[in-house]
Amino acid sequence: MLVPGPATSGRCRPRGGRPDSEMPEDVRRYEYRYREIVEPDWRRFPGWWNVTPAQWRDAQWQRAHCVKNERQLREVMGNLVDDAFYADLATDQARHATMSLLLPPHVLNTMVPDAAPDADRLYADPVRRYMLPVASDRHPHWPSHPYATRDSLHEAEMWVREGLTHRYPTKVLAEVVSTCPQYCGHCTRMDLVGPSTPQVDKYRFALRPVDRLAGMLDYLRATPGVRDVVVSGGDVANLPWPRLEAFLDQLLKIESVRDIRLASKALAGLPQHWLGTEVRAGMARVAGTAARRGVGLAVHTHVNAAQQVTPLVAEASRAMLAAGVRDVRNQGVLMRGVNDSQAALLDLCFALRDSAGITPYYFYLCDMIPNCEHWRLALSRAQELQDSIMGYLPGFATPRLVCDVPYAGKRWVHQVDRYDRELGISYWTKSFRGPVEEADPGAADRRYEYYDPLDTLPESGRRHWLADDRSGLLSELTARP
Ligand code: SF4
Repeated sequence: MLVPGPATSGRCRPRGGRPDSEMPEDVRRYEYRYREIVEPDWRRFPGWWNVTPAQWRDAQWQRAHCVKNERQLREVMGNLVDDAFYADLATDQARHATMSLLLPPHVLNTMVPDAAPDADRLYADPVRRYMLPVASDRHPHWPSHPYATRDSLHEAEMWVREGLTHRYPTKVLAEVVSTCPQYCGHCTRMDLVGPSTPQVDKYRFALRPVDRLAGMLDYLRATPGVRDVVVSGGDVANLPWPRLEAFLDQLLKIESVRDIRLASKALAGLPQHWLGTEVRAGMARVAGTAARRGVGLAVHTHVNAAQQVTPLVAEASRAMLAAGVRDVRNQGVLMRGVNDSQAALLDLCFALRDSAGITPYYFYLCDMIPNCEHWRLALSRAQELQDSIMGYLPGFATPRLVCDVPYAGKRWVHQVDRYDRELGISYWTKSFRGPVEEADPGAADRRYEYYDPLDTLPESGRRHWLADDRSGLLSELTARP
């Protein structure tokens, strides 16, 4: 029987794991050059030829002109790309996408930043690959791992109040809103975030927002063991500022809360939001209160490619620092065809640090959600990449490459307990005791698993998975021409 291997399309570049001694020469030879960043000229898009700089800087204009479907993309791009590209997009939206399409003009403008975006350039573009997915990106034979699931991190199982995940002993994640100004194809919260797609009927919060946020605050007041609150979503940029500020003011009154991190990809996707007068003034008030109370207030953003660090993004980041935020940090996601090389990661980290004052913090292995195999990397490749970037950046700005292991939490890629490369199964243990272990003491000694993408496995490993295919799904997919 034919066992499909790595996809051979030039646009999909799967790479299996190799020992360090076999690492390609180019991986070891990175030459740093300071590069001045430039805002791409949006007038290269036919639909925006007459958009003024004042309109472009206006967050409301950006939100009102988001691209949400094929028709709107045609209005912006016209004949720059052919019908085949639009058909590829429409097929993806109908059959594969786990996230709706939502692209602020600023995001679209970072694709093919220095040329007219024809179809070939657009297909090859790293930002396009994850923000504007098309059907031909997906792996033809192994689109999903058999163990891929919605809510692959089981966050909802660990809710202590609706939207409040308490997984680690001293930290919580507060999902204060379930929408974003932009939707990323690989979103790990695809179960909850954004409108439903033809493939995914999204979970909806049951409580009214005001009651949900009040419940979170009640829990934190009653749980002094929690000192660190990640205020996330969705994207906090989609919570009206007065409501976000009111929530933060309440958080800052809780004596035990010592760190607050605001999660917003919009700092890079819609920097105009964070440059708005109301938001900047409000952030200065909140940061002032945090400083008086000795609380660390930080903004965490999500940038995956160096070309996304534009002057507007740098201005927004520096505006947050000037408002008194202690740090702006980046949490990217490792993805094939986006940033899976030493050069791509270092270019991104230097652009963040040198041009925008953003600290590279984490790169995550892509979580095991459906239809994302073409993005995911094998753990062994992530280990190689971590090794390859050591020694170039200041220690405090050298990002850790981590696997967010279901139930176990974030683990550095070299912390793996055991790794079966043939079957692509890594085994991980927990080093902490959180609420899950208190409820189930046996959980502390358990080993948790993460799986490499099947197309990166040796043939013997792929044969194993096909033989173990109880549902018949893999056999059916691999039998397709
Ligand atoms: S911004 Fe974050 S929460 Fe929103 S779609 Fe992207 S990854 Fe998901």
